[in-house]
Amino acid sequence: MPSSLIRGKYVVSRVIDDDKSEIIEDGAVYQEDGQIIEVGRYGDLKVRYEPDEVIGSSRFVVIPGMTNAHHHMGLTPLQLGSLDMPLEPGIFAEWSSREVDPYLDTIWCALQMIESGITNVMHNQAMVRTPSGLDFYESNARIIDAYEDSGMRVAFSLYNRDQHFFTSQDDNVFLNGLPPELGARAREGMRARPILLDDHLSASEMLIANKVSDRTRIFISPHNVHWCSDDYLMAIKEFATRHSTGLHVHLQETLYQRLYGDEHWGKTPLAHLKDLGFLGPELSCAHGVWLTDSDIDILAESGSSICHNPSSNLRLNSGIAPVNRLLEKGVNVAIGIDEAGINDDNDILQEMRLTQKIHREPGVGVKSPSSHRILDMATQSGADVTFFGSETGTLEPGKRADMVLLDLDRISEPYLDPDTNVVDAVVYRGRGSDVDTVIVDGEVLLQDGIHTKIDRAEIARQIADSLAGPLPAAAESRAQLNADLKPYVERWFASQKLPAGPTHYRYNAR
Ligand SMILES: [Zn+2]
Repeated sequence: MPSSLIRGKYVVSRVIDDDKSEIIEDGAVYQEDGQIIEVGRYGDLKVRYEPDEVIGSSRFVVIPGMTNAHHHMGLTPLQLGSLDMPLEPGIFAEWSSREVDPYLDTIWCALQMIESGITNVMHNQAMVRTPSGLDFYESNARIIDAYEDSGMRVAFSLYNRDQHFFTSQDDNVFLNGLPPELGARAREGMRARPILLDDHLSASEMLIANKVSDRTRIFISPHNVHWCSDDYLMAIKEFATRHSTGLHVHLQETLYQRLYGDEHWGKTPLAHLKDLGFLGPELSCAHGVWLTDSDIDILAESGSSICHNPSSNLRLNSGIAPVNRLLEKGVNVAIGIDEAGINDDNDILQEMRLTQKIHREPGVGVKSPSSHRILDMATQSGADVTFFGSETGTLEPGKRADMVLLDLDRISEPYLDPDTNVVDAVVYRGRGSDVDTVIVDGEVLLQDGIHTKIDRAEIARQIADSLAGPLPAAAESRAQLNADLKPYVERWFASQKLPAGPTHYRYNAR
């Protein structure tokens, strides 16, 4: 049975509350066959056990593996040619980008995530018809294979929609309002869509049936509330119940999405989900930027979670989610990067820092997330939303051995007040580049900053080679169609009246 003793100047085994974490000085974690047997002082554990290997030293701080709680794709929209833009017209840009091999795209991103200490990801995948002709099951099984090969944990869900492909109005009304030639091209382009509910359910069913290891969970996802009919939403809910699996949905990411609820249901999309009976602890909602006070109460009552993506919300003109209000009400909040990190990478430590700073509301005595709370959001809360919460998220006997060793010498160079709590040091100053070692299930995925399972340079070379050369003709005409449609989509959204209302935060409000 492979065993190891993982040691550090500090072992942060779990977050206790807003003000403190359990921290063991000169600590160590002893694991056998991927399961944590004991956490304690290094001096005690090294006498008690005979591990195959000792990992780490007093140069490191050991923390639980972290979760990226909302993620879609590997190469970013910028890398594929799209600058930041508001979400709704931005979705068109995604339609027009180059097709990247799903295995390579995923494994590249998994490598990047591991490098910043992410051991677990909520991967939410669009259902798309690929020109290469892979069916829905095959193309997505390749994504799962990539995660399996990387050694990371993943909660994977396919998302889809059945209405409102262009704006928040009926698609035929939008298409009929276009110049006839463009309308005809758009209808032709739409023939690849919609992808049917049956395809969604059967591909998800096959992924569940063929699940490879315990590091993978298969969830299911409607894309967003107003992008799915009620029948579609309920079929997804029924599927999740039947398979006892998780639900993930985009929720009130932009103000337009909340407005849709006001206009069509006379209530918010979340309140609509509540009335449909869609909510529950198995549901995690990405974004939740435009939640009302009563939405926050609904989340607290239902046990549904929020996956907060602060960088993405800044980059896509979405706003700032009311995380302080969510935390006050006891809503579980995890942190995601949405492949739109502020540095256009997948550095979860950067995202944690932004989460902490962006919720520092103006005013003396106003509470904002402590470093302990932020670490908990990135570890236990992230593990909970991906259904790994009973196995990971803390370093405790009986849990799986998922952990990260950060170079404390670099974080504190050249001097750090010795009274500084190590959790503050990590959240204030830690960067992906400080991550030295990453372990999942006791298996070392990254050591001395070098990947142990995958040849990073080779993957980068294969991606560069696969994307060399001009855009294929089919992608070229798709890109042209989307470029031609974009002004009409933008005009429709720009014509919507955005009402002023009460704000959760006082940034620049008077
Ligand atoms: Zn998203």
